[in-house]
Amino acid sequence: MGDNPFRGLPSTQKLLELPAASALAEAHGTPALTEALRAALRDNRAQLAAGARDNASGPEEIVRQAAEHLTRRARPGLRRVINATGIVLHTNLGRAPLAAEAIAAASEAGSYANLEFDLASGQRGSRTAWVEPLLAELTGAQSALAVNNGAAAILLALSALASGGEVIVSRGELVEIGGGFRIPDVIRQGGARLVEVGSTNKTRLADYRAAIGPETRVLLKVHQSNFRTVGFTAETGIAELAALAGEHGMRVVADLGSGLLARLPGTREPTLREALEAGADLVTCSGDKLLGGPQAGLIAGCESAVEPLRRHPLLRAVRLDKLALAALEATLRLHRDRPECVPVVRMLRQTEVELQARAQRLCRLVEQGSVEPTEAFAGGGSLPEERIPSRALAIEIRAPDDLAARLRQGDPAVVGRIRDGRLLLDLLTVADGEVEALAGAVRAALA
Ligand SMILES: *Cc1c(COP(=O)(O)O)cnc(C)c1O
Repeated sequence: MGDNPFRGLPSTQKLLELPAASALAEAHGTPALTEALRAALRDNRAQLAAGARDNASGPEEIVRQAAEHLTRRARPGLRRVINATGIVLHTNLGRAPLAAEAIAAASEAGSYANLEFDLASGQRGSRTAWVEPLLAELTGAQSALAVNNGAAAILLALSALASGGEVIVSRGELVEIGGGFRIPDVIRQGGARLVEVGSTNKTRLADYRAAIGPETRVLLKVHQSNFRTVGFTAETGIAELAALAGEHGMRVVADLGSGLLARLPGTREPTLREALEAGADLVTCSGDKLLGGPQAGLIAGCESAVEPLRRHPLLRAVRLDKLALAALEATLRLHRDRPECVPVVRMLRQTEVELQARAQRLCRLVEQGSVEPTEAFAGGGSLPEERIPSRALAIEIRAPDDLAARLRQGDPAVVGRIRDGRLLLDLLTVADGEVEALAGAVRAALA
């Protein structure tokens, strides 16, 4: 150990003169390469100092390490992931995968676009002019509005309709939606006072009636999207609340959460249209749950209830940008014309025969593991109880966590799940066109 091991390390200048370095400088620029060489040298010193190895790397090896730094640096932080979790609306994976039409529309609008400009008159226009009529048409509403997300939609609705007054909510609906977003806090943020009625499992119309006072502005109905109360329960429906609100000149606002437009067979999930037909003045939901669009908050209702939201100063703080608006318009058009082209809709309608065939194709390409039945989920707080029969490729391996980590860091990144010490790749959330890329990633991670 007599000699200083650091002495074996070349200088940055010497490294820059190597032929391999010239090629990298060409591709990435000398400042970035210099930075990468310094980082590689720092790594070497740290390893030598920690006794992790005895000799410094040779100059060629250090340039190769710098090239790895440059590759990592060039890779986008936010990137595409193959979702093999079987959770359709995986919040951490960006919820809904957009339809090709929605991606194309967002890409087109990335240039200059007529965001707030009426091309016919040359005058200033409204940024939601294109999505509002579509939303109204699809929900049967008189009027509609789109904002940044579902949370913003409720906050805006309560700020505009209930600020300074009271909002009545059932104790069974004082829910936390996720990430600490709780209904009582939203009501407070909206400048209103919460009046709780009923009990956790039962709230009757008489409870609402007894709580109504001169300050009451809104009867709020929050859909139990991420949990269920079962057993001895009673809930007051929108129609009954609407009749009561009508007698007293107040509003019924329904936060439906999931944004279902057309009935899903075999579920209790209400559609926006049904909630409006039942008499809600305003319904709010997320654009990236069952609607399968970009992150957005949708609001639909009667003109007199939507109008105060349009004029509220908060609207500007929660407005959508042009990329999301373009993708939302395209997604709404698909729901109108060809709903089966919305990936979320398509995924939820797959048959077990289709899933089995896709899983077998993956299994053949990977040449490992076996196909087995699984239970998948809609996720995103939608259809919490419903398990969706699906198929997965199950890979039995000594260290499944290591395999999962290699898959996450591969290209493309793949996220699966581990169950009973095996890695499961669920095909419900993998598109047909992704199977080959997925197989390639798995083979690379197994090699
Ligand atoms: C998901 C959800 C929200 C929040 O919507 P985001 O778009 O995630 O902000 C609000 N209310 C209910 C009932 C929900 O399920």
